Amino acid sequence: MIIGSHVSFGRDGLLGSLKEALSYGANTFMFYTGAPQNTLRKPIDMDNTEEAWRLMKENGIDINTVICHAPYIVNLANNLDERKYDFSINFLAQEIKRCEEMKVKYIVLHPGSSVGIDRDIALDNIVFALNQILKNDSSVTILLETMAGKGTELGCTLEEIKYLIDNIERKDLIGVCIDTCHLNDAGYNMSKFDDFLNEFNEIVGINYIKCVHVNDSKNPMSAHKDRHANIGYGTIGFDALLKIINHELLSNVPKILETPYIGDTDEDKARIYPPYKFEITMIKEGKFNSNMMNDIRAYYQE
Ligand code: FE
Ligand code: FE
Ligand code: ZN
Repeated sequence: MIIGSHVSFGRDGLLGSLKEALSYGANTFMFYTGAPQNTLRKPIDMDNTEEAWRLMKENGIDINTVICHAPYIVNLANNLDERKYDFSINFLAQEIKRCEEMKVKYIVLHPGSSVGIDRDIALDNIVFALNQILKNDSSVTILLETMAGKGTELGCTLEEIKYLIDNIERKDLIGVCIDTCHLNDAGYNMSKFDDFLNEFNEIVGINYIKCVHVNDSKNPMSAHKDRHANIGYGTIGFDALLKIINHELLSNVPKILETPYIGDTDEDKARIYPPYKFEITMIKEGKFNSNMMNDIRAYYQE
């Protein structure tokens, strides 16, 4: 089982991410190269990066399973503001270079939102941008994430994902990241995952799946909301998620948790404790922990 979570990057870069992942008992991880909400980025510190590679080897973590996530504000779908569109293209080209320096193989990308233009045109904008970005040879694959369909998000149907891939020239540098919360919210039934995989295979091709974001959802199927819940604490449920994680056809694909931090009380909005160590334990043991929230608080409040 290749499992990890979203971790921070911060001052120590890849090394900091790795140490956080190890503290959760993970054997892979996903990071943003800076804050997810902005595009301010520092140059990669190679001393820390080399130390991270060394520690990964020591701990049996394969750099080929480590995932980078592009910031949310990169939007390749809308080109009404040409400066912003060009900025997004440039940013992603730089992100690919940063990943190459760290030997990271995958960048997850939200396809984008159409905001005020035709969906068809927006899809073609994404295609145009990705063809620009991927025209140089690189060792980094961009993974289009399946989206919930919140607002004007694109990539919330398998047909849209197929359209994007069909029109991208460098098919060797493109893949898909399926997100269980997003799929649920987009209207795909995660408790019938074999049916979903068959459908995915017919429309897109199962070999394009290079990452799974494992999240429960706070909302019912087809809600188009995108609010993640802790594993087993949402509408998808523990058993359905465990089946997905352990699916034999996806056994070599890294599973990444992006579930919410929890607060000092259930109502607390200041969410400060990461759930990942405890969710990973539940998943490895294959057993739901209905007391998880209290266990997390007890562990981190010490
Ligand atoms: Fe994402
Ligand atoms: Fe996700
Ligand atoms: Zn999401």
